[in-house]
Amino acid sequence: MAGGMGPGGMRGGFLTEEEKQNAPKVTKELLVRVFSYLKPYAKQMILVLLCIAVSSVFSLYPSILTGKIIDEGLYGRDLQKLVFYILASLAVTLGASLIGVAESYINTWIAQHITFDMRNQMFAHLQKMSQRFFTTNSQGDIITRMTSDIDGVERVITGTFTSILSNSITLVVALVAMFTKSPILALVGMVVVPLFTIPTRKAGKTRWSLTREAQACNDRINGILNETMSVSGQLLVKLFGREKYEYDRYEDSNRQMIALNIKESMAGRWFRVVLTTFTSIGPMLLYLVGGILIMKYDSSLTVGDITVMVALLGRMYGPVNSLLNISVDWTRAMAMFTRIFEYFDMPVEVENAPDAVIPEKKAGGEVTFTHVDFGYDEERQILKDVTFTLKEGDCIAIVGPSGSGKSTVTNLIPRLYDVWSGSVSFDGTDVRKLDLGYLRDNIGMVSQETYLFNGTIRDNLLYAKPDATEEEMIEACKKANIYDFIQSKPEGLDTMVGNRGLKLSGGEKQRISIARVLLKDPALFIFDEATSALDSISEAKIQEAIDPIINSRTSILIAHRLSTILAADEILVVKDGAVVERGKHADLVKAGGVYTELYETQFGKGQTLAEEEKEHKHRRKRQGPRPSIYSEGEDQEIS
Ligand code: ATP
Repeated sequence: MAGGMGPGGMRGGFLTEEEKQNAPKVTKELLVRVFSYLKPYAKQMILVLLCIAVSSVFSLYPSILTGKIIDEGLYGRDLQKLVFYILASLAVTLGASLIGVAESYINTWIAQHITFDMRNQMFAHLQKMSQRFFTTNSQGDIITRMTSDIDGVERVITGTFTSILSNSITLVVALVAMFTKSPILALVGMVVVPLFTIPTRKAGKTRWSLTREAQACNDRINGILNETMSVSGQLLVKLFGREKYEYDRYEDSNRQMIALNIKESMAGRWFRVVLTTFTSIGPMLLYLVGGILIMKYDSSLTVGDITVMVALLGRMYGPVNSLLNISVDWTRAMAMFTRIFEYFDMPVEVENAPDAVIPEKKAGGEVTFTHVDFGYDEERQILKDVTFTLKEGDCIAIVGPSGSGKSTVTNLIPRLYDVWSGSVSFDGTDVRKLDLGYLRDNIGMVSQETYLFNGTIRDNLLYAKPDATEEEMIEACKKANIYDFIQSKPEGLDTMVGNRGLKLSGGEKQRISIARVLLKDPALFIFDEATSALDSISEAKIQEAIDPIINSRTSILIAHRLSTILAADEILVVKDGAVVERGKHADLVKAGGVYTELYETQFGKGQTLAEEEKEHKHRRKRQGPRPSIYSEGEDQEIS
């Protein structure tokens, strides 16, 4: 059905230069792909086609019966026939409407199911995309594709496709009926049809470009709203006193929008004036030519026949008009499908290998980097030849200036990204060969930017382990040093954390996310210490929470504070993406390199080395031997 539309030719006149460039190429592959979504619903589609065909024919039938009402009923002065044709006409109209109801039900059902399939497919696909995708694409863009674009699919199926079909059928049936009745009058009717193609094309072009402009303007408005109405955006606006600037920007876009809306609505209005004039020429011409024919030449033609012709011509304008306008909808629909497919076609960068392995023995969390080179994009290499081994049970602290690549190192372990060259292995197996689910299950990461869902503390904890018992949750919270805080809240674990956890302090959020990781009970613990300043009490609480974890499992700490660094077995100093120094604190401080500099500017805070070591030894002693994370009686030691 779509092939007959010939989108190329008709669409051409509608598009501006820019739109021509942006118009998607309607290839056979694209159509096949679009229709592949209809395939599972082929049976229902056939039913819809039948309904459309029958209701299109039925809806034309009363026009044909008008001739009989006039000739046989009125002129023939036959009351019985008159009543019969009137009733038949009403019955057919009712029948067409009832079939129409069935058709729109099945059609909506199909459209909903197709969008359901597409939405789920898209969601599943997007979940497989690497972090790169989410850092590169704006959230607004992703959400638009998931919502507006896919909603558009429904409109295309219930609107565009159906309209093409029913209008084509109506047109063909009307033409056949007209030519059968009187070829001459049918030809006369045809003469006026091209008259309204001109205003239709003109209006279509204006509408198309105005809609595009309005869309762009709407995007701008949404962008401004998204930026300024978010918590952090509003904070920025307030702190920098940019209220007036933002208001002006918003008002300006809004003003453009109303201008466009008025223009668009008026373009449609003028179009209708022209079209109404042209559409009234048709019937008059038919009456004139029909009258001349009856009076002067063709005596077999009746008044009823002419009325039928006028009625049928009247029924043709709508479909012809729609079919001409539909090229705009068609182009839009194809552009929409192209955009959706573009997302579907984005390669999944980090994928489970077909022969991915799930080791049988319990994971130990050993990590080895071998000559790892990596960058987020091709232009800029971040990590350069990084090589190190973290043995099972050990703890490494990664230190270095801001932006040196510390978080990047840890991002490669759970395969948030894959290396350019070299390898990262987990318990001796290249992470690319391990089952992704297994790998990520065994890694617990507490990032600098703690993300909590808008829900209760309990919801956030259960995210890590949906079947966790109350005791396990309390245990984890105690170990994460957050239980006292939770108990102090009247709602306890059911305290709401607010949008992204913003009702909590940075330290509380981080301790809840430590508890969340503890519930997951991973073999490898990665802790990206917050760079933002926490008060010393919060800092101490976090330190107390992570100390036993470090002692009980393999860990990597991205450290910004001396107390954290001292807890590690080995320190890696990263600068400009390369490991420049490694070793123990005492040795590194004396070495006089990057670490010494960092120590003096960032960590030292005037403590003497002897004091630090004393403090460190004291902490180790308090913690005792490496306990299991759920062992009894450990809480007292921590708290
Ligand atoms: P900090 O101590 O400030 O957290 P860091 O040492 O952890 O810094 P990384 O976050 O690893 O540094 O960043 C290393 C470099 O990579 C930085 O220059 C940063 O701009 C860049 N970078 C980080 N994430 C991305 C990303 N998703 N896309 C592109 N570049 C990135």
